[in-house]
Amino acid sequence: MRKLASIILFLVLSNTFGQSKNSPLQISHLTGDFYVYKTFHDYNGTQISANAMYLVTDKGVVLFDAPWDETQFQPLLDTIKARHNKDVVMCFGTHSHGDRSGGFGFYKQKGIKTYSIKLTDEILKKENKNRAEFVIPNDTTFTVGQHKFQVYYPGKGHATDNIIVWFDKEKVLYGACFIKSASATDLGYLADSDVKEWKKSIKKVQTKFKNPVYIIPGHEDWTNTQSLNHTLKLVEGYLNKPSEKK
Ligand SMILES: [Zn+2]
Repeated sequence: MRKLASIILFLVLSNTFGQSKNSPLQISHLTGDFYVYKTFHDYNGTQISANAMYLVTDKGVVLFDAPWDETQFQPLLDTIKARHNKDVVMCFGTHSHGDRSGGFGFYKQKGIKTYSIKLTDEILKKENKNRAEFVIPNDTTFTVGQHKFQVYYPGKGHATDNIIVWFDKEKVLYGACFIKSASATDLGYLADSDVKEWKKSIKKVQTKFKNPVYIIPGHEDWTNTQSLNHTLKLVEGYLNKPSEKK
């Protein structure tokens, strides 16, 4: 009886992936072959989480952004191998910041193809950081196995080089830091942002990629798909605040 109780307790404590709430790498199934994963990083004394995504295809697994926590670069590959029996074959960085492109050096060295747009590559080069092996045009469609996706630069926003990824068939919009969570109360880190342009860029995405069913923001909760509308509201609020430096 005690054994049964401890088994039940174990099942309650660990979720379907056998990871606890405190796990440094948290993977959630999104839909079909899509998985969102979360890692954590110390930012000014607080642990902040970052969302990223991976897609399982017939031709291997594609990462959309590397873990923010670099201790999780290898565990992510190992977990994917154990869960899906597949290797990671491609890795995209959606802008130059460490929570997105920080894994380029590690994954390149593992033989994984790494990708960024030219704007990102130029920033990484200037900052003496690891760059992607392949530089892609600002609007590029990839077919990997049974999946197709569009890597798109909407213009400046959170960063001057932020890109988003659109999966038309599944209506998944992977926004990364270009999109704030519906639970975000402000625009966050703005040192490399252009808030005025961000507004235009959001409208471009809303016009171009209709009726997303899933929207993945760079940080915090991603279950609420009002995130893109919410980001527009935050941007407008910021632009309308007279005291704010624009
Ligand atoms: Zn960023």
